[in-house]
Amino acid sequence: MKFNTKAIHAGQKPEETTGAVMPPVFQTSTYAQKAPNDNQGYDYARVGNPTRTALEKMIAGLENADECACFSSGVGAIDAVIKTLRPGDHVISTNDLYGGTYRLFTQVFEPYGIEFTFVDMTRTEEIEKAVKKNTKLIWIETPTNPLLRIIDIKAAAKIAHKAGALSVVDNTFASPYLQQPLELGADAVMHSTTKYLGGHSDVIGGAVATSNKELMEKLRFQVKTSGAVPGPMDCYLTLRGIKTLHVRVERSVQNAKKIAAFLQDHPKVESLYYPGLKSHPQHELAKKQMSDFGAMVSFSLKDDSVEAASAFMSNTKIFTLAESLGGVESLISHPASMTHGSIPKAVREKAGLMDSLIRLSVGIEDAEDLISDLKQAF
Ligand SMILES: *Cc1c(COP(=O)(O)O)cnc(C)c1O
Repeated sequence: MKFNTKAIHAGQKPEETTGAVMPPVFQTSTYAQKAPNDNQGYDYARVGNPTRTALEKMIAGLENADECACFSSGVGAIDAVIKTLRPGDHVISTNDLYGGTYRLFTQVFEPYGIEFTFVDMTRTEEIEKAVKKNTKLIWIETPTNPLLRIIDIKAAAKIAHKAGALSVVDNTFASPYLQQPLELGADAVMHSTTKYLGGHSDVIGGAVATSNKELMEKLRFQVKTSGAVPGPMDCYLTLRGIKTLHVRVERSVQNAKKIAAFLQDHPKVESLYYPGLKSHPQHELAKKQMSDFGAMVSFSLKDDSVEAASAFMSNTKIFTLAESLGGVESLISHPASMTHGSIPKAVREKAGLMDSLIRLSVGIEDAEDLISDLKQAF
């Protein structure tokens, strides 16, 4: 099956007792057993739920993975991956990382004895240099948030394998429609399904998909044991969102390209970050490893101050000032004070995340209206 067909049908079949085309919301905490341990594949809903199974099969299908485990949030999914490691293990990741991931790594897992090194992963040699005897995981996020840098998944996965480590890609920003990390050699893909997969800003969720049996066994153990599981209604909403993933992302990308072209010529814009621009430092790599350039656009202002950025963001009428991304509606955010507020200013600026940086999550409204909105906000 090709992608658009999979987005509707992967792993789905009509419900057996009624023929319901969409999976019912199995709102139950437990399941009747015929005799102890004689059940129909489900015993307790922390461990499994048929609505969740339908979602897991769908995401596995979209990522070309054998299996997927779903979680109650994206960070819940990341938490489960890191818990497959042990104290003394070492993780390499990028210095331009989602703020919540950085916080989880440095404030929860570092104190428990897992070591992290953050490098500029757009430079493959930096990843190689960071490898140590105890390196067990390379955590890749590409395009990165919010600077939309592109990391070479194939090269990073190769380094991981040479080191006997796993490579996991946070594919939230691209979505499986635009980027297929397992095809590029990664061992697992993680999603905040809150974003493009859910797509309607109405549900929080996370997922990890992989064909690595040993890793999936450990993740299922985490599902059962740490219990960051999504409820059936959340799974249903996410699954419903996924069915239009390809249509939504395609339109968002079209709009993002038009907006990037508008911002590129604007006299008040200092730097523009969009992988689709020829001037983007990893444009060629983006062209190679993604099927299109995504719908996130970031830019900084000539007047590099929090005040100038705040004034601009308060002026937009269609772009809603809010955290998150990947929904049908366009959002605008200020990484330095919002999503990346937990990263110290010095660390932030070293990574190029300036005070006036503004991030757009471009939705599926009319591009003309979105551009007029930005025009009047300037
Ligand atoms: C939002 C996000 C997360 C965290 O996901 P939640 O669903 O908010 O817990 C992780 N990585 C990236 C790239 C994100 O955008």
